[in-house]
Amino acid sequence: MTFSIPGLAVARGIAIGRAVLVGSSRVDVAHYFIEPDQVPAEIERVRRGRNAVAEELQRLQDDMPHDAPHELAALLDVHLMLLQDEALTSGVKHWITERLYNAEWALTTQLEVIARQFDEMEDAYLRERKADLEQVVERILRTMKGVAHPVAPPPPSRRKTSQDLLLDDTMDVPLVLVAHDLSPADMLQFKKSVFAGFVTDVGGKTSHTAIVARSMDIPAVVGARVASQLVRQDDWVIIDGDAGVMIVDPSPIILAEYGFRQRQMELERERLARLRHTPSITLDGQRIELLANIEQPADAAVAVRAGAVGVGLFRTEFLFMGRNGSLPDEEEQYQAYRDAVEGMQGLPVTIRTIDIGADKPLDKTHKDDHLNPALGLRAIRWSLADPAMFRVQLRAVLRAAAHGQINVLFPMLAHASEIHQALAQVALARAELDARPQVYGAVRLGAMVEVPAAALMVNTFLRYFDFLSIGTNDLIQYTLAIDRTDEAVSHLYDPLHPAVLRLVTEVIAACRAQGKSVSVCGETAGDVTMTRLLLGLGLRSFSMHPAQILAVKQEVLRADTRKLASWAQQVLTAEDPSALLGA
Ligand code: PEP
Ligand code: MG
Repeated sequence: MTFSIPGLAVARGIAIGRAVLVGSSRVDVAHYFIEPDQVPAEIERVRRGRNAVAEELQRLQDDMPHDAPHELAALLDVHLMLLQDEALTSGVKHWITERLYNAEWALTTQLEVIARQFDEMEDAYLRERKADLEQVVERILRTMKGVAHPVAPPPPSRRKTSQDLLLDDTMDVPLVLVAHDLSPADMLQFKKSVFAGFVTDVGGKTSHTAIVARSMDIPAVVGARVASQLVRQDDWVIIDGDAGVMIVDPSPIILAEYGFRQRQMELERERLARLRHTPSITLDGQRIELLANIEQPADAAVAVRAGAVGVGLFRTEFLFMGRNGSLPDEEEQYQAYRDAVEGMQGLPVTIRTIDIGADKPLDKTHKDDHLNPALGLRAIRWSLADPAMFRVQLRAVLRAAAHGQINVLFPMLAHASEIHQALAQVALARAELDARPQVYGAVRLGAMVEVPAAALMVNTFLRYFDFLSIGTNDLIQYTLAIDRTDEAVSHLYDPLHPAVLRLVTEVIAACRAQGKSVSVCGETAGDVTMTRLLLGLGLRSFSMHPAQILAVKQEVLRADTRKLASWAQQVLTAEDPSALLGA
């Protein structure tokens, strides 16, 4: 029976495919696709993990003192029995062989399948065995964690229309990922994967998981609350990334309607692609800089293809995440920054220093350490708390600057003392390179304005920095006290709130008055409904995911900044600016 699950629209488009559920195991599990010839080795890894756990449990049982409680022995029996359970072993083999899931992913997927069967059982005793099964699977996963696994390149992605599906249901159909939560690092791992769309139970429009989904340019819905409980493995689903809704088990009529809309969108994409080489100039002759936000060096090629004239934000923290705490050394970072610079073929690259914390934990354990991570040891605070680690990054960036034009951007500064400390670390990093001696290049230094305090003391910032970049994602979060990742308050997360607009306007005006460059690199920069307003407020530089550049360029080409300036002043002073936005 068809039913729909509402959520938040975060990445445009329509995906039609079969649901793949990713379990939320307490163990940090990697999800990737293996090559067909790796199937036997992957099955062997599970077998070895299972045997190791069986031996461990057996040892525990053998060594158990005679006076140990009877329940403990019974529990070990149950765990040993579950370990050999046919549904578990054959199911895991199925996911590895048929879907090419890596071993850990296959285990958590099968755990999810069996756990649901337990949930539906009448017998309370059997229902409770679910917890035992979870413990057993976690034991296997922990045992396997120490075992190295090959990270295979995922198979090429393949988009399909619903027309294909109606014609042939047996061929390899698109897969749609449904999860309770996905970390930004997980999401990045899926970046070149086969998934045609994503749905998560939690998350807000500007959570980093949503941002990465948007950068992948495939439909996504977050904040769908109980989606991962209502959808079953392999259900047919439609993701409507514009309306922010997932449709489960769609009827043929609904499928046909969405198939039609999918084709319309493809036509629109092709039309926009023609703007790639068109200069980004408004009707009144203002040149508007359209830059790219990237998460990894390989994205530079995508940025160039999309017609970006540089990188306005390289979120370097993605190089640090999901590595079990082992951070990339100077050489590895230098190579990554150099790759990004060379990938941009002479265009400037703005490298933001690490912004770990809040919804971008280094790994899952890091996340649990903090009660209120968005207000905690995040971004520049994290870097300044470990200056030696910070200078590793700064030295790598300075060295990469010998190969092209680099701007360094510091995230989340709020205090003058942080400005002084950050700049002192740059000076120290240069001195360290001089002492080696090692070649490095000149960089421009800039600060993100993403805390209201920074916006309110913009003139202090301008005394020290060559340029500013407004991070509206956090500026909105911190101005309105709305957790950007919390779907429960997402209706209050408002880029058009008068207080936010005032802060943005004042920063733009202060920079222009001093002849310093300023851009917006938060998600509002890539939101076409905001382009005219930002132009009217005086913004001339926008940084966004490459996939959004052409749509924003289309808005720029239609804009007349002289007319927009007076209209923007009205919007700025309105009690409800959103009411004027359509005007
Ligand atoms: C922002 O806060 O707007 C920004 C661009 O940084 P991030 O989204 O990575 O926090
Ligand atoms: Mg930010």
